[in-house]
Amino acid sequence: MLPNILNLPNFEIHDMKESEYDYRFMVESINSQPTYCPKCGSVPNFYKHGKREQLFFDLPMHAKRVGLIIKRQRYRCRECEETFFEDLPDVDASRSVTNRLIEWIQQASLEKTFTSVAYDIGVDEKTVRNIFNDYVIELEAETEFRTPKWLGLDEVHLLKNYRFVVTDVKNKSVIDILRKRNKSVVIDYLSKLQDIDKVELVAMDMWRPYRDAVNMVIPHAKIVIDKFHVVQLANEALEKIRKTNRENVSARERRQLMRDRYVLLKRRKDLNDFDDQIKLQVWTDMFPLLGQAYELKEQFFDIYEAKSIDEAYKLYQDWLASVPDELMTYFSDLIKAISNWEEEIFNYFTSPITNAYTESLNRLIKTMNHVGRGYSFEALRAKILFTQGYRKVKRRKKFKDVEFTFGKMLPDQIPNFSKQEYEWVYEEVYGADFSTLIKAMDEASF
Ligand SMILES: [Zn+2]
Repeated sequence: MLPNILNLPNFEIHDMKESEYDYRFMVESINSQPTYCPKCGSVPNFYKHGKREQLFFDLPMHAKRVGLIIKRQRYRCRECEETFFEDLPDVDASRSVTNRLIEWIQQASLEKTFTSVAYDIGVDEKTVRNIFNDYVIELEAETEFRTPKWLGLDEVHLLKNYRFVVTDVKNKSVIDILRKRNKSVVIDYLSKLQDIDKVELVAMDMWRPYRDAVNMVIPHAKIVIDKFHVVQLANEALEKIRKTNRENVSARERRQLMRDRYVLLKRRKDLNDFDDQIKLQVWTDMFPLLGQAYELKEQFFDIYEAKSIDEAYKLYQDWLASVPDELMTYFSDLIKAISNWEEEIFNYFTSPITNAYTESLNRLIKTMNHVGRGYSFEALRAKILFTQGYRKVKRRKKFKDVEFTFGKMLPDQIPNFSKQEYEWVYEEVYGADFSTLIKAMDEASF
């Protein structure tokens, strides 16, 4: 017998083989005498019925994979005639791994792809995935993010599909990322939110299933279309005109126009650079229609400076009336969006909330798509939501209500209770913090 270098006191080691990448230990369990028959439940009335070798995987050692070949005792019951294996300590018999390897896999699969985790320890990828999925269910059960007052419903393009992202607009954090963004998924998600009455405002993009789901599940909440998504349509109108005009210019000019397009998308007040002002002038002189469209874009952005909803409506009506026929087709997506989402878009002027984290979210997703190769959607999601260090946590103090009866005591006779005695502190978790996530990416520790 070899010394127990495995540090598994319930097993004894009979032999060990070593190759370039692997260790194989021949082991048997000690003290695993069964106390009843698992088949019929009868009291011990069985005899030993041969041994079988079964392979289990354990923690890697000296950068080699470790396999335990367990000689597992079999029994036959005299009452029911059935055979059964001894129970094994410290292992998960259904997954053929040791319990401590399960913990290791749980952590490793947040750091590496399933394929590489599987390769490192010798198990197949499916085992890693199953262990990870069980772990996510466990983590979900012990995680409760606070339902925000201002709920954000977004979408991102991640691992080749559009995903549904739920955020806390005020606290700039991610609460969840779901595989799909169709109506039934959103309804299901909203229906399961705790304290849903707390939601006052919902910021979203113009995606009909979001609106339908919110109107159905939280009809009291006011929907606000993010300003960013609306003004983006004005910029897109400009892009369309630029693309139409590129057919009418030389190849050199076309490249120049492509390079200079950022000038068209900038606000006039942000064109501080004299060079940029010249560029804008050149292009709008060359293409008067582009110049006109630039003005319309600027005027549209200005609507968002309105001080009241009435003023905003008025500015928009004036703007709409000023769009010339020849530019109508370019601005039609914007105009159509406003007619389809009028109430929700103009809600901004009474409840001016905006997803200040949009840029962070886009960067986050860009990085995830980059590092995400080989990761499953679930793994990326878990990495964001369940990494403790990414969370935004606020500690709050609460004072318990304590009733005092002081009778007719004079103020200086009232006992001086220490407030600390009656306070308790609890934590509120607001999801994964955008700025912490971005920082982790900058430090390449994501
Ligand atoms: Zn039996």
